[in-house]
Amino acid sequence: MMNSIRRTKIISTLGPSTDNENILRKIIRSGVNVLRLNFSHGIAQDHINRVNRIRLIEKELNCSIALIGDLQGPKIRISSFKEKKIFLKNGDNFLLDLNIPKNKGNENSVGINYINLPNEVFHNDILLLDDGKIQLKVIKTNNTKVFTKVIIGGYLSDNKGLNKLGGGLSASALTKKDKEDIKLAAMINVDYLAVSFPRSALDLKKARLLIRKAGSKAKIIAKIERAEAISSDQIMKDIILESDAIMIARGDLGVEIGDHQLIGIQKKLIKMTRKLNRIAITATQMMESMIINPFPTRAEVMDVANSVLDGTDAVMLSAETASGNFPEITIQTMSKICIGAEKLPCVNISKHRLNEKFDNISETISMSAMYSANHLKNVSAVVIILTSNEIALLTSRITSGLPIFYISDSFRKLRLSALYRGVVPIYLDNKLKNKYATNTTIQLLKDKKLLKKNNTIIVIKNNKKYNFPLVNSYKILNVK
Ligand code: PGA
Ligand code: MN
Repeated sequence: MMNSIRRTKIISTLGPSTDNENILRKIIRSGVNVLRLNFSHGIAQDHINRVNRIRLIEKELNCSIALIGDLQGPKIRISSFKEKKIFLKNGDNFLLDLNIPKNKGNENSVGINYINLPNEVFHNDILLLDDGKIQLKVIKTNNTKVFTKVIIGGYLSDNKGLNKLGGGLSASALTKKDKEDIKLAAMINVDYLAVSFPRSALDLKKARLLIRKAGSKAKIIAKIERAEAISSDQIMKDIILESDAIMIARGDLGVEIGDHQLIGIQKKLIKMTRKLNRIAITATQMMESMIINPFPTRAEVMDVANSVLDGTDAVMLSAETASGNFPEITIQTMSKICIGAEKLPCVNISKHRLNEKFDNISETISMSAMYSANHLKNVSAVVIILTSNEIALLTSRITSGLPIFYISDSFRKLRLSALYRGVVPIYLDNKLKNKYATNTTIQLLKDKKLLKKNNTIIVIKNNKKYNFPLVNSYKILNVK
């Protein structure tokens, strides 16, 4: 019974492939926990329509779906070509020129959207286009032009992204478009706001201020996708602490630092993030071949599994669901892989922070409850009743094979918890008195076949007796 609950959460990016209401319902039924609105594509009305559809289906299926609004950020792009697409041969000269207008690019030159580029690149720098598929070496620059030689050629089409190997381009993290999109994110009531290309903790602080000003309580996700963001342990730590979650945005990060560096960085970031009581998301090209095939490559299977073993809270799908041919099958396949990886005993062993001091009462109660849950034999579940989602987050920071049922009457808190590894959000109408809440919850979980008679459970509940809402206590109960 319990074995079929998937702990690792699945994030699916919305796009043309999921705009059909039936397909949206199918992917939610297949187990999507979080949906991502990518503000790099589409107009405001597209996002509004999507959110309306999602919230209706969520209600119909009685589940909790978190929404991420993902800002485009200062993605540097080339402009467009007269023929839409050109071919670059190794050894060719190629010019990036601020003065070339849209649709006027050709085999020799193209426009660029970032006016500081000529001042920020130097002789011998390597520029990577289209996620590194094309590589250019900088020969020289002047005020408006970057002269390059093609190192790795190939086809290059309109508006492809540009990164500098090793990072160092200083474009500010929040563009004018991002500031508008933050208002949209607040209006459509996203649960999480993802900030693209932050350089430091300050960029996240700014984003948080802006979204609060727009009237939203959305949590902040830092997309780790610049070399600068991982340049020291201190910078990583500051960024993690200033955010609620981080995304290991392997697309852009891999291009800037080289894929071989990602291996260690992914593990390090996930470990640091969970230790600092924040949430980790692993993103990009996880099931890439399923954009066109109804099955993954074995390498993709192992990549998803590896991130589950690393302890990620969630795995993310981008084009696989936004514009792929098989969104539903991709999610079902990914779900199976997660469950397969979660069976390994090593993902259930925790050190329980035995040598650490805790920051506050919530953390202490959560850690103690999880210590009991993992050490008492035959515990079936951890049940958190009508208290803050922070307790659900904190308990889920401890590695465990046990499900954490988070019971709340707040749609917002339930949606937020949809991103936490191992947490199952369950709605309960809270009209009843606190003293009946435990019994009602247990009955509800029995009805849902999530608990049965004689199960031992750890219950964490708000302790209203002390008339101090932050104090929680935990009990060990036998289900009757
Ligand atoms: P993107 O971010 O999909 O918005 O580019 C993710 C990544 O870079 O990996
Ligand atoms: Mn990116």
